[in-house]
Amino acid sequence: MKVPYLSFDHQTNVLKENLKKAFERVIDSGWYILGEEVSSFEEAYANFSSLNYAVGVANGLDAIIIALKALGIKVCDEVIVPSNTYIATWLAVSAVGAIPVPVEPDAKTYNIDVERIEDKITAKTKAIIPVHLYGQACSMTRLMEIAESNGLKVVEDNAQAHMATWKGKITGSFGHVNATSFYPGKNMGAFGDAGCITTNDQGWSDTCKLIRNYGSSVKYYNQVKGMNSRLDELQAALLKEKLFFLEEFTNDRKKQAAIYNVELKNTGDIILPYVESDATHVYHIYLIRTQQRDGLIKYLNDKGIGTLIHYPLPPHLQEAYKELGYLQGDFPIAEEIAKTCVSLPLYPGLPKDHLNYVIDTVRSFYQ
Ligand SMILES: *Cc1c(COP(=O)(O)O)cnc(C)c1O
Repeated sequence: MKVPYLSFDHQTNVLKENLKKAFERVIDSGWYILGEEVSSFEEAYANFSSLNYAVGVANGLDAIIIALKALGIKVCDEVIVPSNTYIATWLAVSAVGAIPVPVEPDAKTYNIDVERIEDKITAKTKAIIPVHLYGQACSMTRLMEIAESNGLKVVEDNAQAHMATWKGKITGSFGHVNATSFYPGKNMGAFGDAGCITTNDQGWSDTCKLIRNYGSSVKYYNQVKGMNSRLDELQAALLKEKLFFLEEFTNDRKKQAAIYNVELKNTGDIILPYVESDATHVYHIYLIRTQQRDGLIKYLNDKGIGTLIHYPLPPHLQEAYKELGYLQGDFPIAEEIAKTCVSLPLYPGLPKDHLNYVIDTVRSFYQ
């Protein structure tokens, strides 16, 4: 049996007819950039996020960059980021000339440990970027309190957690200006690159719209030095179709995770995902930890099962960040996660016999 880490087949099959219609509508419209499809998707996504405004952009990295710019984060400012995240979170901070200041994760949820944030706040700190990593909501109540009492802006990086909630409130709706990605592999994936910014503030929304389109609201007149980071009409039309099915797909992910949670309990030294009681987890990634990680990956691979590591090297140890001078051991929790984590196949439509095969194979590795 071959079980790939990820397959889009089910999602695409379910949506195919709707996608074709949307595709044809855009092709025939003769209007491909910033038109009705983008506005219509933005309205739908703002609504989905329980906020007033959504601004479609080219990708998730740009979404964070533009959010930071709109909030006035600039050269030499410091921005608190998780030590355990995908590097995009850090790169966005660097892109505006600011300095990423890492904070270790909670050892159980793997999300930023909010109780360690205040230690890292200095006179230069301007913002915090919490990441709802792997699909689990961060501890947002406490994080927003800390931000407020220190006069900091919050940009949620919601790239991995579409539809997750903290105390019943959807992620991507807490921060001042929030960012998400619709990279194909995300829970809400486009058919190419795409991203979105969400906010409740009209001023920030307007600024983001300016920045994504060359700093211009009236063609050929430029108010600020913007960039070209627009969401395509085509991606917007396709994403709108996907949004209708997100709840169904998310429930399927949760169901599969629940089966893994039961069936892999007490298997070897495996540490299963831990979900905080106020959080929900939408399982963008089903990540387990084991001291025998490399052996397990090889064993699964030999039996035809795909896995991934999220992520093998934390940002502070990447060559790209050698300028910050961090060494091995500086963020031991993030480093330990990187050394021991492995992500198992989980996606909407993963066949039941595949799921069972993964479970049986993982178990047999430890026997
Ligand atoms: C995917 C991802 C991004 C970046 O999104 P892109 O659309 O690939 O630019 C940012 N942050 C996190 C946590 C991500 O997983």
